Amino acid sequence: MLVGLAAGVATLVLRPRSGLIEPDVIDKTAYFSAQEIERAEAFRGPQRVLGVAGLLVSGGTLALVVLRPPRRLRRALERSTRRPLLGGAAVGAGVSLVLTAVALPLDAVSHERAVDVGLSTQEWGFWLTDLAKASAIGALFAAGGAAGAVALARRFPRHWWAPGALAITAVSIAFVFVAPLVLDPIFNRFTPLPAGELRSDVLTLAERSGVEVGEVYRMDASRRTTAVNAYVGGLGASKRVVLYDTLLDDLEPAQVRSVVAHELAHQRYGDLPKGILWLAIVTVPAAYLAQRLTERLAPSGAIGSPAMLPALALAVALVSFAVGSAGNVLSRQVEARADAFALDLTRDPAAFIGLERGLATRNVSDPDPPRVLHLLFGTHPTTLERIGYGEAWRARGGS
Ligand SMILES: [Zn+2]
Repeated sequence: MLVGLAAGVATLVLRPRSGLIEPDVIDKTAYFSAQEIERAEAFRGPQRVLGVAGLLVSGGTLALVVLRPPRRLRRALERSTRRPLLGGAAVGAGVSLVLTAVALPLDAVSHERAVDVGLSTQEWGFWLTDLAKASAIGALFAAGGAAGAVALARRFPRHWWAPGALAITAVSIAFVFVAPLVLDPIFNRFTPLPAGELRSDVLTLAERSGVEVGEVYRMDASRRTTAVNAYVGGLGASKRVVLYDTLLDDLEPAQVRSVVAHELAHQRYGDLPKGILWLAIVTVPAAYLAQRLTERLAPSGAIGSPAMLPALALAVALVSFAVGSAGNVLSRQVEARADAFALDLTRDPAAFIGLERGLATRNVSDPDPPRVLHLLFGTHPTTLERIGYGEAWRARGGS
């Protein structure tokens, strides 16, 4: 309740108040061939089932460990109480690795299907190396978070949620700042866009829109995928726009300009810092709820010892799922505004519509995904909605 209320208020305060386009209603058969629609559905339908099954398997494992802990685990947790912080770190890393492991078979099937459809270009060895790196990083963060939670619960036994919320916000800010400098290079190479037509295109667009763009990077996404994408990242000195090499090499210049204009909108409106602010607001009641849930789920007397951690992990998973879905409401509106901004800046709805169509077919994505899943997990408007912005803009010659 409290979390929903805070998420609602934060979304109302931070939502885009102007610059949105009411999309035209789009008939997907007018933009996609029957074959394209069928290919996307045949691929995405089972991928969605695998994704949801993965969530259920991980969540179910966590619930099982909390509600019916195996005896050996219980004993291990009791032993770890002697050195609570070190034990906490070990339990945190362990939980993170177990959750990755139980979802692994489903992930592997999902990867195999992406290779079959031509979306992923990763060999198994490379895929497993990526997985090992990501699991190690995840376990490290879980270890730190778990030790931190035990430490806070010992120091502030009744109100550890309050310093916890503060710590989560501080770590999120540090993460957004540091990730492009430290984490991203573990997986990809980033090279500043070389001087040339495209770079001057980007700078001209940035100047015309009065946006301080930061550095613009080309990322070697083609090592893993044929999908095209772009994003903004970093804060302050690490602020940047990242364009996939697949996008730069394969799309028409007018479509690349459309993508760049969309990313400039995020910089112009400070969408990333605002996203962090939204999270900071929602984290306060979310942390409170996570503490209360943990207290109900954990064995008696466990708070302040590593034995509280499985319950805390389950509580955090449940609360984050709710917070994430609520955050997607804001994200979809922010993305819609960036689309409107891109149309106004480029004044080229044909390129915009061509881009959205091309993104969907290349990325084998469903132009019109099931409503419920879109509401829960969709971070962007659907492809049909986005084409609808382009058509509406074209009909009116401006937003
Ligand atoms: Zn965007």
